[in-house]
Amino acid sequence: MADPGFAAATGRPLSTAPSGTLALTFDDGPHPDSTPELLDALTAAGHRATFFLCGAQAERHPELVRALDRAGMAIANHTWSHPALPDLPLTAVRDEIHRTNRVLAKLTGRPPTLFRPPYGATSPEVRRVAADAGLTETLWDVDPRDWDGTEPAEIVAVLAAARPGDTVLLHDHGNRNTVTALPAVLAALTGRGLRSTALPRH
Ligand SMILES: [Zn+2]
Repeated sequence: MADPGFAAATGRPLSTAPSGTLALTFDDGPHPDSTPELLDALTAAGHRATFFLCGAQAERHPELVRALDRAGMAIANHTWSHPALPDLPLTAVRDEIHRTNRVLAKLTGRPPTLFRPPYGATSPEVRRVAADAGLTETLWDVDPRDWDGTEPAEIVAVLAAARPGDTVLLHDHGNRNTVTALPAVLAALTGRGLRSTALPRH
């Protein structure tokens, strides 16, 4: 059955970005080998992004979560330990999501409102648990597979095809190719009159 809050084809929320904007998103952080440099590049170029954080990483690196929040980046829920949620019993799904909400709320002063399931693996049950936790599931439109050894120049090339309103999947788990690519990605977006903004809270 169609869920009226989601686009039928992609399952992503029907939220709309302001025209001339798109949404860069970074999954799996925070990580000391990538978060500080990603944040510096975004701030220097005047762009914002959404960071889908894993609760275990957030607990390990609370100062990085606070730095992202202070800089105006959106902080969102990417589960505690990055499992494939549809494989888990619902009690474990709830624990992954609620535990992460709690640590992010403690670090930023407010609970997150957006959620991305690891691997994009979801189900109506997972979406319902997330909704009960006050979270809207958010997938993506553009995926340069930056986690998979994609060279920086190729990441830049894939992002050159991103359109206004797109949500772009990138990673913040210490991947140096993403760190290297980001300044060029942002310069190219700016050159096209496009700005990355933080996804709006729902
Ligand atoms: Zn992930």
